[in-house]
Amino acid sequence: MKKTFLSLFSVIFISLLSLMSTFTTAQEVTSGKPDGSVIEVLLIDGYNNHNWRETSPVLKRNLEETGLFEVTVATAPEEKKMDTFQPKFSDYDVVVLNFNDNKKNQQWSENTKKAFQDYVQNGGGVVVYHAANNAFTDWKEYNLMTAVGGWGGRNKTHGPYFYLKDGKPFHDYQSDGPCGHHGPQHEFQIILYEEHPITKGLPPKFMHVSDELYCYLRGPAENTKILAYAHSPKEKRGSGRDEPQLMVTEYGKGRIFHIAYGHAGKHCRAVSFILPFIRGTQWAATGTVTIPVPPDMPTEEKSMTRD
Ligand code: ZN
Repeated sequence: MKKTFLSLFSVIFISLLSLMSTFTTAQEVTSGKPDGSVIEVLLIDGYNNHNWRETSPVLKRNLEETGLFEVTVATAPEEKKMDTFQPKFSDYDVVVLNFNDNKKNQQWSENTKKAFQDYVQNGGGVVVYHAANNAFTDWKEYNLMTAVGGWGGRNKTHGPYFYLKDGKPFHDYQSDGPCGHHGPQHEFQIILYEEHPITKGLPPKFMHVSDELYCYLRGPAENTKILAYAHSPKEKRGSGRDEPQLMVTEYGKGRIFHIAYGHAGKHCRAVSFILPFIRGTQWAATGTVTIPVPPDMPTEEKSMTRD
């Protein structure tokens, strides 16, 4: 009798435990922020040497289909009205940058730059996406946030080359040479490096679709961790180096996530893009990641794309 009672008790206890853990798991994937509310995202576009009209809706969809984010798009106005471009950064948890100034009169005003610096300094999140690391060559604080960048006339004076040498992050202050390059698009593996909530549980190597592989990036790369890299092969006109592809940087109280690949809309629907991007956005906004690894995560050999 006593035994039956005990075993009945343990069945109830175990059921309760499993119910609690189901509840916790459900909580984790249905809440963007620890308080249960959605993450407010400001996506900035309007100028880019890339097709932002195509990629912005894909970035927005990637975030919103999780149910964890609400995305507002701020599109910069025509050049002569750039002074009026004053997004209210502080209304948002995280700013996703799909913006690259091609000309001087596409730059943000000094007021807007200052507001952005203050926002990040005070704990605002930032996601630097692909060609956003080409932007604002001579805006020092911006380059501290992106860690590394390419093109836009950057040279040795804008910072060292930053890559993995002999398996360790390396700032090459000595070498002259161009900044920003990619060979023809090809498939490449994303290889995890430093452990981080953004990449936790992902396969150590996963294949990305045929895309641009940025190399020869330069920048201060202070307070920066490389979460994942890709080898840029010489035979694909690359650098022959292990080039950072996913990075995080601290700036003041702010968190910055940087994803270097994702040239066009189709590349941004690759799961090898979507997962780091949505997790990186959640982390930049909240400092935590609750998004699970999906069943369609690519493997070491096979990339995956969603419709
Ligand atoms: Zn590109």
